[in-house]
Amino acid sequence: MYGKGIAKGLWVTFKHFFATYVDDVRYAGRKYMRQENFGVRQGLNTQGAFTVQYPDEKIAVPERFRFVPFLVTEDQDASRMGEDWCTSCGICAKVCPPQCIWIVRGTNPETGRPVPQPEAFFIDIDICMNCGFCAEFCPFDAIKMDHDYEMASYDRTRHHIHDKQKLSKPSSYWKSIAPTTALEEAAARGGWEHSDIIKSMKKAGQTPVPPTKENMTFEPAKLVEVAQPVAVAAVEAPAAEAPAPKRAAAPAAPAAPAAAGEKKKFDKAAMLEKIRQRKSEK
Ligand code: SF4
Ligand code: SF4
Repeated sequence: MYGKGIAKGLWVTFKHFFATYVDDVRYAGRKYMRQENFGVRQGLNTQGAFTVQYPDEKIAVPERFRFVPFLVTEDQDASRMGEDWCTSCGICAKVCPPQCIWIVRGTNPETGRPVPQPEAFFIDIDICMNCGFCAEFCPFDAIKMDHDYEMASYDRTRHHIHDKQKLSKPSSYWKSIAPTTALEEAAARGGWEHSDIIKSMKKAGQTPVPPTKENMTFEPAKLVEVAQPVAVAAVEAPAAEAPAPKRAAAPAAPAAPAAAGEKKKFDKAAMLEKIRQRKSEK
């Protein structure tokens, strides 16, 4: 075992070592000329070792890759442009194993009754373990796992608690990073639209256009751009603004109770403080 096994192992190492130079010669200078070359050299069928010069070069992530979640917003229906697909049902927050999702349900300012829209939505990306349960369980396809993994920053408090503004991305973005899954989901819903729109269309006697690759509003071909060599991003300088409060900061003073009949306003600062406290307790 020791004699033959070691020789066998060394032979495999030598083969990869040699193949690296063969590939280097074969693709010399042409690595970046065609997108396919870059893809082949990163792929499973590549010969030898291929070093990715990150961050000048980036490996194209597979479609099923998942990092932190984002919220899908409407960008097809003109009457609902920019609106969240999320109905603030709270299922994602319930199933999230480390409990890093906080949702505040929206209310109608006139009647005070709850509306199916989140007024605030927070995800603590330091706690998120990228499991994808939230996206799996969402009945409205309103939360999806993003491909953006470059989120390092000097601030561990505010920048890593993503609010609704930071989380929201249009549905065409989801189609661009995961065309196959987006198509499967749309086929299951019965159209490219949000399931509520599809329901109301059916009630009105209209038939949604069946989703196909051809009527996808975002070209999947744009996916390959992810693997293009990019310029080195400038390192984010430490924020010049006032330093962030320490984790063990004193709890915020409780808000004054709302007058009878007055609509209780969502206090974002208090919510962020509450999240920081919960983080410091963990
Ligand atoms: S993202 Fe989905 S599961 Fe979470 S609250 Fe919104 S609709 Fe419900
Ligand atoms: S990916 Fe997992 S850990 Fe992260 S927010 Fe979703 S359910 Fe929670």
